[in-house]
Amino acid sequence: MFANEKNRIALISVCGDPAAEIGQEEAGGQNVYVLQAGLALARQGWLVDMFTRRISPDQASIVQHAPNCRTIRLTAGPETFIGRDAAFGCLPEFVDQLQTFQKQQGIQYSLVHTNYWLSSWVGMELKKRQPLVQVHTYHSLGAVKYRTVSDLPAIASTRLATEKRCLETIDCVVATSPQEEKHMRQLVSTKGAIEIVPCGTDIERFGSVERSQARQILGIPPEAKVVLYVGRFDKRKGIETLVRAIAKSSLRGNADLRLIIGGGYRLGYSDGMECDRIKGIVKELGLDGIATFPGRLSPDKLPVYYAAANVCVVPSHYEPFGLVAIEAMASRTPVVASKVGGLQFTVISEVTGLLAPPKDEEAFCQAIDRLLSNPAWADELGQIGRQRVEIAMSWDSVASRLGCLYNQLLVKAPMPVKAPASANVKRLTPDVVKAKGSVA
Ligand code: UDP
Repeated sequence: MFANEKNRIALISVCGDPAAEIGQEEAGGQNVYVLQAGLALARQGWLVDMFTRRISPDQASIVQHAPNCRTIRLTAGPETFIGRDAAFGCLPEFVDQLQTFQKQQGIQYSLVHTNYWLSSWVGMELKKRQPLVQVHTYHSLGAVKYRTVSDLPAIASTRLATEKRCLETIDCVVATSPQEEKHMRQLVSTKGAIEIVPCGTDIERFGSVERSQARQILGIPPEAKVVLYVGRFDKRKGIETLVRAIAKSSLRGNADLRLIIGGGYRLGYSDGMECDRIKGIVKELGLDGIATFPGRLSPDKLPVYYAAANVCVVPSHYEPFGLVAIEAMASRTPVVASKVGGLQFTVISEVTGLLAPPKDEEAFCQAIDRLLSNPAWADELGQIGRQRVEIAMSWDSVASRLGCLYNQLLVKAPMPVKAPASANVKRLTPDVVKAKGSVA
């Protein structure tokens, strides 16, 4: 018995498990994007399977998030965490396992939406073996990222070549901002189809709490001036710039200035090391009494932190999109962000927040101080930010646009050829199926 319905699709995210805990090394915006886009697509009638690499034998093989939306973890390479730059060798097995899964289940996907360059390789290999439409979101472009790092990883040339082949040959690449599209055309290739569909955010969860209520929950007095960072501890995120900007603030000593740096970290991992480095700078600059590190912010805490803040700062050196900026905007909190990548699209300077040159602590300091010193204006910017996100960046609107794109491409594509059933393939047993929303 085979199901080859045209609305059966796979989202592939080899590194970036949609069912993972977010906010630590290697689990950030991409994971959120795949899960939330998957859930919203399922609400709109698509049958969504999301594939990722299993990184621990304790992880469930299948996590059912909603009736038509599940994460499927494939064993490809060792069942341990492998950094993205070292995961390429696992991909051939991932392709084999994905095909095996289809045979076991008697299904064939008509369309795969791949995420990050590693998954684009999987999609392109799969396409050699079965008819399908491939859509891809880069999340990060090697050609841009490598301009900001001094030591190129050994995989760099493979990544760049794969990203080029992907843009030139697959059915359609999704750029999440006009800036990303420009980078693709200038730095990757002038060939290939690109559609712009932004990332989304949960406009019901973010914006559901008032500032006064949020401050009560967190024990922050109403008059405090709260500056918030949310994100991974990664040098690329520019947390150092923010800390140095706060040290220069004219409000220091004259107001109850507070800096909250939210994000998970683990001892012995690179995020733990970056967190230690930042804490060292905080100490050196005498900001111990101002800065707090609440650790990873869980989904229920995030809306409270965004609402409590007077300003949210996204000081990244490079940011393909930057979900944190639109989460803050949805929470009516103005954003000070680096003038890079997708942040130039989401944050309209002087309208929904302020943009500053990356790594420029003086410019960040001035922008933060301007907002903190003008609360009525800051509130106005926060309201306009909310409107911007409501109009164009809810997950439902993102899924509608992705759905339209899928439909256009599927209309042109032939239906998948039914694969023969494989009698000797072991089926996944129900005991590996975990309950809705569980995280291994
Ligand atoms: N995040 C979280 N808890 C934390 C820190 C971050 O849930 O403690 C989430 C954050 O809300 C956002 C994502 O991680 O949804 C980060 O996405 P973004 O695009 O800003 O950055 P990336 O991690 O992809 O570089």
